[in-house]
Parts: sequence; structure tokens; C-alpha cells
Amino acid sequence: MTSPGISALASPGGRLQGKVAVITGGASGIGASTARLFHENGAKVVIADIQDSLGQALADELGENASYIHCDVSNEDDISNLVDTAIVKHGKLDIMYNNAGVLDRPFSSILETTKWDLDLVVGVNLAGAFLGAKHAARVMIPQRKGCILFTASATTAIAGMASYAYTASKYGIVGLAKNLAAELGQYGIRVNCVSPFIVATPMSAPTEGDIPKVEAISSATGNLKGELLKAEGVAQAVLFLASDDANYASGLNVVLDGGFSIVNPTMM
Ligand code: NAD
Repeated sequence: MTSPGISALASPGGRLQGKVAVITGGASGIGASTARLFHENGAKVVIADIQDSLGQALADELGENASYIHCDVSNEDDISNLVDTAIVKHGKLDIMYNNAGVLDRPFSSILETTKWDLDLVVGVNLAGAFLGAKHAARVMIPQRKGCILFTASATTAIAGMASYAYTASKYGIVGLAKNLAAELGQYGIRVNCVSPFIVATPMSAPTEGDIPKVEAISSATGNLKGELLKAEGVAQAVLFLASDDANYASGLNVVLDGGFSIVNPTMM
């Protein structure tokens, strides 16, 4: 007797058929690729961002079952309104993907790092993720089900890969996710992170000068074959974690680095 494969477990018409998903930072990069893939897989997607024209254009392109809402994730009223809007529009919230993020300076020393850098980056990346999770939990607990996802970073596995403020914010997200997984499991809510290595998106553009260095190191490991991870590749991992195929996955930090951190745990 053969056991069912993943495709046999997937819902007909798409792995997220009928699910309602909110994606922060959904106007660009990883968030936009995930919005496309979720939509293709049957989800109703609510794209949230501060880049209104990009976000609205993506919602228009996707058409039915896609909408855009302005939301600064560091503002609790915006987040609360985002979650409430999704509920009013669709009646439930199945997936909250807290993906919005900013990067200050990719490689700054401790002496170059200011309190201002920390306030800015932690204020968006970590506080934004916290607020997104808190307001999602507010509606998911009474539903007795849901899935909360975060984009952390491979900086949680590779020392010296990004700035102090960015690294601290992403470690914070992983800790937040583990606590949430422990508290919310009793309500049928799963919580996970994806932690990508460098991805070719507008965020990584300022680090372009460093990309040849990273590619050379990657190539030397033989694990990444010198290729950068693509936003679509991250979206595929997020889709798996969001789907019922991952119904036993919670509290994970899924590092997408092609094995880089095993071979090179530091970039210093
Ligand atoms: P991106 O710049 O293309 O997308 C980030 C999005 O977040 C943008 O659309 C931006 O407008 C939005 N955003 C920024 N501040 C916001 C705020 N206060 N409120 C709402 N939205 C806001 O970059 P990306 O690479 O797609 O980044 C997505 C996530 O992936 C981020 O959390 C980032 O830290 C993480 N990440 C990126 C890389 C990389 O190399 N690009 C690697 C690991 C993790």
C-alpha cells in the first residue's frame, strides 16, 4: 500500500483554496511573489504595504480575490484596521504573513551603529511583526485555527551577515514566533518563520557591491552553485508552511540558505 504524496493531500483547485491571507510588505519582492503564488493557489489575498501605487497595481493585476490596503506595520491602528478590514471583507483570517521589513546599512560595525538605527529597524521589523501577530491572534483565537508566518533572515544562522539592528530584529522575530507557537498551539494556530539568505529584491539592491563576494563564497561551498535565491523560491517555502500540508509544522525557523550556514557559520 502506498502512502499519499503531498499533491494528494493538497486541496483541489490550489493548496490554499478558499483561505484568506494577509501579506504585509506585499507590494514588492518576497511579499509580492508570495501574494501571486497564494492567489494562484486559490487564496483571497489582502496586500498591505506603504507603497500604495505598487500595492494597488499588484491587486489590480491579480483581479478578483485580491485587494490592497495601506498599512504601516509599525503603527498599531494601521495593523488593527488591516485585520478588521480583512475580516469585514472575507469573514475570517486564515493566514497572516508578517513579511514587511527594512534594512539600514548591510554591514555596519558596532561603533557605526546608532540608537536611531536600532529604533528604526526594530520598530518596523520586530514591532511590526509583533503587532501583526497580536492582531491576527485576536481574531484567530476565537476561530480556533490559523497560521501566522514571519520573514526573519538567514542572519539568524550566519554571523556578520547584516547590521546589528537588522540582525537583532530578526533574532527577535524568531523568539517571538517560538513563544507564539507555544501559546497559540492550544487554539489550533501554527506559527513559523522563513529565514532566507540574500534574495535579489529591491531591499538587497544597496548591497549589490557585496553580491559578487557572496556569490564567490556560495560557489566555493558548492551548495548554492553561485546562484542567489529568488523571491519566488522563498514564496514556495511560505506556501508550504501556510498550507494544510504543513499541519504539524509549528515553532520552526526554516533557514533557506542552501546549506551555506552549515559550511560558513560566519561571514566575518
Ligand atoms: P522589498 O524591499 O522588496 O520588500 C519589503 C516591503 O516591505 C516593501 O514593499 C516595503 O514598502 C515594505 N515595508 C517597509 N516598511 C514598511 C512598513 N513600515 N509598513 C509596511 N510595509 C513596509 O524587500 P524583500 O527582500 O522582499 O523583503 C521582504 C522581507 O524579507 C523583509 O522582512 C526582509 O527583511 C526579509 N529578507 C530579505 C532578504 C533579502 O536579501 N532581500 C533576505 C532575508 C530576509
